[in-house]
Amino acid sequence: MSFPLTEEQHMVQLMVREFARKEIEPVAARNDVESRFPTAIIDKMGGLGLMGMMVPAEYGGGGTTAVSYVLALQEIAYACAATAVTMSVNNLVCGPLLEYGTEEQKEKYLIPLASGETLGSFAITEPEAGSDAASVSTRAVLKGNKYIINGSKVFITNGGHAGTFIVIARLGDKPRHRGMSAFIVERGTPGFEIGPEEKKMGVRASSTVSLVFDDCAVPAENMLGGEGEGFKIAMTALDSGRIGISSQAIGIARAAFDEAIKYGSMRKQFGRALVRNQAIQWMIADAARDIEAAHLLALSAAMAKDRGESFTRQASISKLFSSEAAVRICYDALQIHGGYGYTKDFKVERLYRDARVTTIYEGTSEVQRIVIANNALK
Ligand SMILES: Cc1cc2nc3c(=O)[nH]c(=O)nc-3n(C[C@H](O)[C@H](O)[C@H](O)COP(=O)(O)OP(=O)(O)OC[C@H]3O[C@@H](n4cnc5c(N)ncnc54)[C@H](O)[C@@H]3O)c2cc1C
Repeated sequence: MSFPLTEEQHMVQLMVREFARKEIEPVAARNDVESRFPTAIIDKMGGLGLMGMMVPAEYGGGGTTAVSYVLALQEIAYACAATAVTMSVNNLVCGPLLEYGTEEQKEKYLIPLASGETLGSFAITEPEAGSDAASVSTRAVLKGNKYIINGSKVFITNGGHAGTFIVIARLGDKPRHRGMSAFIVERGTPGFEIGPEEKKMGVRASSTVSLVFDDCAVPAENMLGGEGEGFKIAMTALDSGRIGISSQAIGIARAAFDEAIKYGSMRKQFGRALVRNQAIQWMIADAARDIEAAHLLALSAAMAKDRGESFTRQASISKLFSSEAAVRICYDALQIHGGYGYTKDFKVERLYRDARVTTIYEGTSEVQRIVIANNALK
C-alpha cells in the first residue's frame, strides 16, 4: 500500500510478520480446535515488546507509535485472531495504567504488564450491563483502608490467565457514569473467583471468562484514577481498544483475501479457474477496496492518537468499517471455496468464525453508530 511508513514502522511490520508466520501461524489451527491458550507464544511476544507497544521503555513497553501498533496487530491477526485479541486487550489494559496510574501503580502493575511478565484483563461488561456500560451494578464500598467489591462480570478476555484486572465498579450514590470508579484487582485476592472458559464460536484460543466478586477486599491505593473517573477511564481505554479490534479485523480480512485468491486460482470448474469468472472477480475487487479503505481508516485513527488529538470518532469509524468489512470478506472468501470452505480442512472456515466477533466486542456495530452519530449531531 502506498501510505508512507517511517523506517521504524516498516521494520516493526516486517519483524512481526516474520515472527507471526514462523511461530504463530503453524499452530493456530490446532489451538483453535483444542481451545488452547498460546502461553509460550504470548511469553515470546512479551519479549518482543508487543504486549505494551505504546508504553515507554522506562515502564517496560515497546515505546512505539500507535501506527506501529496497527501494523503489528494486523500481522498477528493474519496468523491467528485469538492471539491478536489477547495482545490487543493487554495493550488496552496498559493504556489507563500509563495515563491514570500513580508511580507506585506503574511500578507494581504497568511494568510487568507491558513487559509481558503478567497478563491483563479489563472488566466492565456484566450480565445486565453490555452495550449500556453506564448501568454496571458491581459495587465498591470503602471500609477502613480497603474497598470491598461485590458483583459479577462476564465475557472477560484474558481472564483465565491474567494476573492483573482493571475492574469498573459503582462507588457512592451518583447515578450512571458519574458513579463509576476503576480498581486494580490482583488474581488470587480472597473473594475473587474466576469462572470457567466460555465455549466460543471463534477466537477459541483466547481466554474468555466470567468473574465473581464476593466481599473482595482490595487496598484503597488500588483505585485507578480518582473517584467517579471509572467511566471516563473505560471509554478512553476503549477508544484505543477499538483501533486494536479494527486492526485485528483487517488482519483476518487480509488472510481471507489471500486464501480466496489462492484457492480461486487453483480450483477449476467449467474448464477454467474460478477467478476467471467475473462474479468471483467482483468479490475480489470489493475485498481489495475494503481492505485498503479499512487500513487507511485505522492508520488515520492511530495517527490522531499519535498526535495527541481526540480520536474517539475515528476509532469508532475505523472499528465499524473494518469489522463489518472483515465479516463480508470472510463470507465471500468462504463462498469462493464452495463446500470445501465449510470444512475444517481450509483456513477460511476459522477466519469466518473469528471475524464474526469483531462486530460485537469493544462496542457492537450499533454502539459505534451511536458514537459516530452523537459526534455528528452535537
Ligand atoms: C469473545 C468476547 C470477548 C469479550 N471481552 C470483553 C472484555 O474483555 N471485557 C469486557 O468488559 N467485555 C468484554 N466482552 C463483552 C462485549 O463488549 C459485549 O458483549 C458487547 O459490548 C455487547 O454487550 P451484550 O453482549 O450484553 O449485548 P447487548 O448490549 O445486550 O446487545 C444485544 C444487541 O442489541 C443491540 N443494542 C443494544 N442497545 C442498542 C441500542 N441502544 N440501539 C441499537 N441496538 C442496540 C446491540 O448492538 C446488540 O446487537 C466480550 C465479548 C465477547 C463475545
